Amino acid sequence: MPEPIQVTVWGEYRHEKQNPKVADLYPEGMHETIAGFLREDSNLEVRTAWLDQPEHGLTDEVIAGTDVLVWWGHMAHGEVSDEVVAKLKARVLAGMGLVVLHSGHYSKIFKSLMGSTCSLKWRESTDKERLWNLMPSHPICQGIGEYIEIPAEEMYGEPFGIPTPDELLFISWFTGGEVFRSGATWRRGHGRIFYFRPGHETYPTYHHEDVRIVIRNAVTWARPTVNIPDACPNVPPLEPLPEDPDADSRSHTSHK
Ligand code: ZN
Repeated sequence: MPEPIQVTVWGEYRHEKQNPKVADLYPEGMHETIAGFLREDSNLEVRTAWLDQPEHGLTDEVIAGTDVLVWWGHMAHGEVSDEVVAKLKARVLAGMGLVVLHSGHYSKIFKSLMGSTCSLKWRESTDKERLWNLMPSHPICQGIGEYIEIPAEEMYGEPFGIPTPDELLFISWFTGGEVFRSGATWRRGHGRIFYFRPGHETYPTYHHEDVRIVIRNAVTWARPTVNIPDACPNVPPLEPLPEDPDADSRSHTSHK
């Protein structure tokens, strides 16, 4: 048996407390719904954390013990501490996987790792969404047919202010005519990142079976293969070097 993948599902957990419609759809919070369908995979060990916990539930111990972080935030991106974001970014660069959902496109952690605006067009209306599966052979697309259809969702439209993805797995079409790069991967340092668009809080999207399959697949795909914290060491040579006539003049210089 492989070691289980340690997953932390992070939710903002504010809409659920303020909007009865969201509370009806996600009585325990969106993070618990997402954690619930991830737990259907016995290879995943899943915990949850949310904004209003001390350190947003992301203590050093939790961050160090997380293989893959799933992130849903929307109305309170600005309340996420810069210190916690810096720690999360360092963990991704060292190897931790990151799955960013829906409005997480504007989260501090995603924007910082992308280095771009991450802006888009949006509309909360009666659009249907059809996500076309562009890479059926990709691990994240296993179990998904030609497309995923979501009867009602918020629209996100291009241009999406992201760097060109390493892999583009899904493109969405909306009734209103817009299209959007809805499923995309990047590597940053040793970490793998997947962005997945669906999941506006007032629609039952995280109860949709195909959406659940994609997120479960993504968590397994994003698992770390290494953990290499950042370092910039001064090192001795592997082989003897010729004598250095300028050694004295160099002895006090340092790159650090
Ligand atoms: Zn939304």
